[in-house]
Parts: sequence; C-alpha cells; structure tokens
Amino acid sequence: MNRRDMLKLAGATVATGAISSYGSSTKDMDSKAHENPIISSAARLPRNGNGPRVIVVGGGWSGLSVAKRLKQFVPQADVVLVEQRTTFVSCPISNLWLVGEVDLEFLTHSFLDAANNNNYTFFHSSVYDVDRKKQIVYTNRGYISYDYLVLAPGIDYDYSRWTHGDEELEYKLRTQYPAGFRTHSEHATIKDKIENFDEGNFILTCPGGNYRCLPAPYERTCLIADYFKKNGIKGKVILMDENVDITIKKKGFHSAFNEMYKDYVTYMPDTKIEKFDLKNKTVTTEFGEVVKFADAAFYPHVRGNKLLEIAGVAKDAINKAEAHIDPFTYQVIGDPHVYCSGDARPMGFSKSGNTSNSEGHVVARSIADHILGKKFKWSSPHTTCYSAVATKPLRSIFVNADYKWNKANGSFGFYNAATMENWHGKSGTNAGRGTKEWASGMYRDMFS
Ligand SMILES: Cc1cc2nc3c(=O)[nH]c(=O)nc-3n(C[C@H](O)[C@H](O)[C@H](O)COP(=O)(O)OP(=O)(O)OC[C@H]3O[C@@H](n4cnc5c(N)ncnc54)[C@H](O)[C@@H]3O)c2cc1C
Repeated sequence: MNRRDMLKLAGATVATGAISSYGSSTKDMDSKAHENPIISSAARLPRNGNGPRVIVVGGGWSGLSVAKRLKQFVPQADVVLVEQRTTFVSCPISNLWLVGEVDLEFLTHSFLDAANNNNYTFFHSSVYDVDRKKQIVYTNRGYISYDYLVLAPGIDYDYSRWTHGDEELEYKLRTQYPAGFRTHSEHATIKDKIENFDEGNFILTCPGGNYRCLPAPYERTCLIADYFKKNGIKGKVILMDENVDITIKKKGFHSAFNEMYKDYVTYMPDTKIEKFDLKNKTVTTEFGEVVKFADAAFYPHVRGNKLLEIAGVAKDAINKAEAHIDPFTYQVIGDPHVYCSGDARPMGFSKSGNTSNSEGHVVARSIADHILGKKFKWSSPHTTCYSAVATKPLRSIFVNADYKWNKANGSFGFYNAATMENWHGKSGTNAGRGTKEWASGMYRDMFS
C-alpha cells in the first residue's frame, strides 16, 4: 500500500468515525439504511431536544411556521422538518416575478437558514410512506420514527375533470401548459411563454371549488395584460373562469379589467372547458364555443396532496382529497399524534400562504398543549392577501379576514373581513408597496 492509498484509507476511517458519532437514538436505526449508504442519512439525524420528536413533512408556508413555533413553545421538542425541495422558492409574489417586477432572489430562501435560526433540524428528503402504527416516516434517505407527525404537504392538481383518464392529455397539459400553482419550474415555463409571446390569445383558467389562492388567476391576468400593453405585444389574455363571477376582490379586478385592460383581457365567467385540441391549439367550452390560443397555462381543480392518502389520513373515497381532521385541533380523527396543516386542510379557509402561516401558529399551539398536557384553545387563522393589478408603479388591492365557526351549517366563514379594492391613485400605490413589504415580512417570519 503506497502513501496515497494509506492516506485515502485513513481519510475514509475518519469520515466513517465522524458519521457514526452522530449516533441518534437506536430506534431510528434501519438495517436497510445501513446496507445502502445513500439512504442512511435519516439514521444519523442529530437530536435538537430531549423531548418528543416531532416530524413536520413539508417546508412550505405552513410547515415552516409549525416547525418554528413548536420549537418556541416546547424548546425540548426534537423538531425535524422534512422537505423534498432543496431551496424554497415562493409561490406568492411569483406573479410579479413573471413580469419582471421582482427578481428571483426576492422569492428564494434557504431551508438551512430557517432551521439554523430556529434551532430545529432540516432533513432534505422526500416522504413516500408513513406507518402510523409504528410511528415511522419513510423517506428516500432512510426512515425516521416520530412521537408526533405534522403533514403539511400542500396540494396536488386534479386533472380528472378535464382528462377523464386520458393520461397522455394530462401529461401534455402538465408539461406543455403548466398551471403554475405548485412548483417553481412551472412558473419559469410560464415566464418563458410570456417573454416569447408574439401575438394572439393567451388562455388562463380559473378552477371551481376551493382552489389555491383565490385571487391569483385574476392577478396573473392583470399582470400579463399589463406586460402585453407595456411591451406593445398584440396579445389578449382570455381568462376562462369556472365560477359565475370573480371569486374575491371582485370590484377591484373588474374595474382593472375594464379600465386598464379593455383591449387586452377577455373575461369569460361560468366557463368550463369540455375539450382540448392541443394539436390545433383550440379549446371547446361546454357551450360549444371554440377558442383558439397561441399559448396557455391551464389551471385545473386542486385536491389535497396524495401523501394524505398514502398516510391513510384522507377523507372517505369521495372526499379523499383533503385531510380527515378535527377542524379545531387539527388532529387526525382517531390519531391524536398526527396533525395536518396548510392547504391540505378540509376547512373552507382561503388556501393562501398567509392563512397557512398563521394557521401554523395554531397547529403548533395545539401540539404543544398536547405535549404539555394543557387545554388547547382554538384561535382563528388570519388571511391577509394583496393582489397586484398593474406595474410601474405597482398597484394593488387587498383583503383582510379572520374566520368564525357557523354552527348552523357546520363550517367556517369569513369574519371581520375588510377589502381595499381601489387601485387608483395613492391607495393603489400604497398597497403596491405594501405587497412587497408584506412578502418580506412573511419571509422574515419563516426564515429568520
Ligand atoms: C401564483 C401563486 C400566487 C400566490 N399568491 C399568494 C399571495 O399573494 N398571498 C398568499 O397568502 N398566498 C398566495 N398563494 C398561495 C400560497 O402559495 C399557498 O397557499 C401556500 O403555499 C400553502 O402553504 P402549504 O404549506 O400548505 O403548502 P406549500 O407551500 O405548497 O408547501 C408544501 C411543501 O410540502 C413539500 N412536500 C410535498 N410532498 C412532500 C413529500 N412527500 N415529502 C417531502 N416534502 C413534501 C413541498 O415540496 C412543499 O414545499 C399563491 C400561490 C400561487 C401558486
């Protein structure tokens, strides 16, 4: 053995020593994980507290908030955030990024910063199964046992109403005309489409039901129209809305469409697409109207993330889309050690980042009180939602609301709701500044 080989071996031994000295509790050890060094990472997770281990799956607006608050409420808890993305890129404000009003850096944040600044562990991996009996989460990098589990995986798309099982069509819609309501790759594709658009119709759709971010399809319509107008592009945004009218900030969006974008927006309420002809680039509505498009971003219905089904916490066969939880404690029915938070919830709250983040405080309190043996008192999540309608200068409208339980119909409704829908003059530009300030404040809350 030459000197080089000896040094290599010595290095390998030191590295192995360092790895095994991480040594967390033996209950995390997985023989399969040790056979395969790629998936052994979970076995080496350091503990950040001597108390119960709480695994939070999903580092979105909700999961980040749960992890941070829980560590504050129960410092001895060993909190692990499991997230499949390497970097956080924000969905909120991405519409502004599409048209160059903010740069990518504004949207991008480090999960490591969030974890280091708030004393919890970030574990970069993807969860593919959960054994609730054994209290184990399986990831592509090994498995981890838990005392408490929070599922905050967000939404999935549901194309079935459009595709009726046609997988090729679904694949084409997903990849060639992405909705832009889940991943940053989708946003990047849409940005390319906008920047390379020559002329013709650009179709956007707005689904029915409680879809993610009620105002975002209308905001996107305004901002793409604004981009076409300011860059002299002979394009028209056609918004096909399944709802009978604009679902939120109606007055503000209608006036923006009519006053600023008369020649650039065609709003089609109560419109369902029945047929896609992607080869000839047409869609046919249920009333038989055929609309030609040069490009599009088709936003389908949404459902709870499939992980809920995998973990066996989704509702019944019909409503399996969302989590089967107590709407006040967020505990899975029949399993007080598992919680769901964020857009995967079944309650009719707005599927928004602000709501999910503020709800994260409530969920963390609920878990903390369970750990500490205290009585939990529900409080309302809060929705603050700015929507931009124009750029240079940025003009926005907004809504603020809490929620209240309605005993009569057994659901939550808006409470103390207030909107500001006048985008003209100072109120619009002040709200424009407020939009970016709101986002900066939320990123600070989650990452510092
Ligand atoms: C274009 C657009 C504009 C928006 N504008 C606004 C706005 O102005 N204001 C506002 O408040 N909200 C806005 N929203 C809505 C907001 O983004 C969502 O409501 C919010 O992200 C929901 O938070 P969440 O934590 O439930 O889900 P997400 O933020 O989607 O987080 C879920 C996380 O779980 C991870 N995950 C999923 N499955 C797994 C798995 N198996 N293993 C590991 N990790 C997993 C995902 O990678 C993701 O990071 C907007 C959304 C879009 C798309």
